[in-house]
Amino acid sequence: MLDTDFFRRWMAATASAIQREASRLTDLDAAIGDADHGSNMQRGFTAVTAALQKEPPATPGAVLTLSGRQLISTVGGASGPLYGTLLRRTGKALGEAAEVTRGQLVEALGAGVAAVAQLGGAQAGDKTMLDALLPAVEALEMSFGAARDAAQAGALATVPLQARKGRASYLGERSIGHQDPGATSAALLVAALAEAADTSGGGDA
Ligand code: ADP
Ligand code: MG
Repeated sequence: MLDTDFFRRWMAATASAIQREASRLTDLDAAIGDADHGSNMQRGFTAVTAALQKEPPATPGAVLTLSGRQLISTVGGASGPLYGTLLRRTGKALGEAAEVTRGQLVEALGAGVAAVAQLGGAQAGDKTMLDALLPAVEALEMSFGAARDAAQAGALATVPLQARKGRASYLGERSIGHQDPGATSAALLVAALAEAADTSGGGDA
């Protein structure tokens, strides 16, 4: 079972991955956007870390809804409301339970990713965070490790795509040949999930 502490570890591991990779995310965004994705995500997850420390939430769902709220209120770029919606919607779908199964997380994350698609109007292949998130949710039915690998593969697979949503779409064909920054940060989020599962022992059950 995945308890509240597991979800806190997930957010903490995401925050440190974002911290570590911020300049890479910003470099990717410099190529096809406005060079702020690293600092946007850093600002957001710094606020997430502070909020989780200040009022530690009592349930898995509350960890994610509080985190999502922080992202929405602190990140100015497109990614803030999108990631915020992902976490809030996923948290809401987990409800009030004190512990959840991986199967319940798959369902909830599926609802979160669907909400991102609805909010941003993007679909698979549009060269966005969804290109990492959609395959990750599918692979999460198998295991946390499979989800991490699928998200990473999905992010790499954005390189040859032409962006059809967001700022990068303004570049048209010139967006081809670059990895999408949001798909890259989404792969970090999913890798952090697998990391949280690794440290819980039996989290893959
Ligand atoms: P901004 O584009 O406002 O500068 P960021 O640089 O923080 O915001 O985030 C850019 C990332 O957001 C993109 O790489 C892409 O993955 C994601 N993104 C942008 N628009 C959409 C959308 N409509 N749907 C899904 N993801 C999107
Ligand atoms: Mg940007």
